[in-house]
Amino acid sequence: MVKRIGVLTSGGDAPGMNAAIRAVTRVALNSGIEVYGVYDGYKGMVEGYIEPLTKSGVGDIIDRGGTILGSARLPEFKDESVRAKAVEQLKKRGIEAIVVIGGDGSYRGAQALTDMGINCIGLPGTIDNDITSTDFTIGFDTALRTIVDAVDKLRDTSSSHHRCSVVEVMGNRCGDLAIWAGIACGAEIVCTSETGFEESEILERLRDLDVIRKKRHAIVIISEKMTDVHQFARKVSLNTGFSGRATVLGHVQRGGSPTPSDRVLASRMGEKAVDLLMQGIGGQCVGIKNNRIISTPIEEALNIPRASRKQLQNLFDRLV
Ligand code: ADP
Repeated sequence: MVKRIGVLTSGGDAPGMNAAIRAVTRVALNSGIEVYGVYDGYKGMVEGYIEPLTKSGVGDIIDRGGTILGSARLPEFKDESVRAKAVEQLKKRGIEAIVVIGGDGSYRGAQALTDMGINCIGLPGTIDNDITSTDFTIGFDTALRTIVDAVDKLRDTSSSHHRCSVVEVMGNRCGDLAIWAGIACGAEIVCTSETGFEESEILERLRDLDVIRKKRHAIVIISEKMTDVHQFARKVSLNTGFSGRATVLGHVQRGGSPTPSDRVLASRMGEKAVDLLMQGIGGQCVGIKNNRIISTPIEEALNIPRASRKQLQNLFDRLV
């Protein structure tokens, strides 16, 4: 059976990564497996920035955002010769397997390492919920809460001033943060890669909300990379009765103490990763489907198309 494993966080960070590191470390140690932390993602693996983790070393982190292991991007990891250096660093320390917490780029690295004889298990750590092999990623719920808190506050001030708040949220071309936040905040309009961004149509809807519905304020939530929200807010001021104001929430969405849901999800997924490695399995990623923790081969997972969010969009439309 596997005796020594490593754990790393890679790509964009997400709240709940620490809870996952803690779960992997404690479950493994409680099963008689030694655990090493690989710092700064694949970069630290190549450079040998690798230290043992202890039960107390992962104490007091379950409530902390970010990642105690640090994260980094190393595009060169796509080269086999660079990965060979990483494998050498692991073998030198007797590390036989790795838990990789990150997004789909990190999963590709995990698969490539598995192909070179180091069993890897991927855990979905990203606020964007853009990994199709799981219903939810670690960090999504916390980011959603951050967005909802911010939009609730914007709504208070918007209604005092007959304003339209145009709020840009993250998502990396996945509209989940936008549509979930739209429903949770009672927004008036949501734009995602699925709905598209039809500027003239949105301005027309805003004029209706002002003139016919006599709304005191309007909230428009837009996924990042759809349009320039500052320019759009100016057009709202010019073409509707609302005064348009843009807010780009940006990296605040990546921070904060993880919600209880994210902490529990990270703990359940961390446990599953260790169980898979104990069975000698690699090249798989962990997910949650219908509230059951599952695993999927990484190569299959990377090719699962995104499920339509039409039902959520229809619900949103019926709530306006
Ligand atoms: P995320 O994991 O959040 O999607 P990235 O796409 O930046 O973030 O990927 C994180 C890291 O994973 C990259 O910096 C690189 O080191 C590694 N990686 C990405 N794609 C591959 C690949 N095809 N082969 C090997 N490693 C990869």
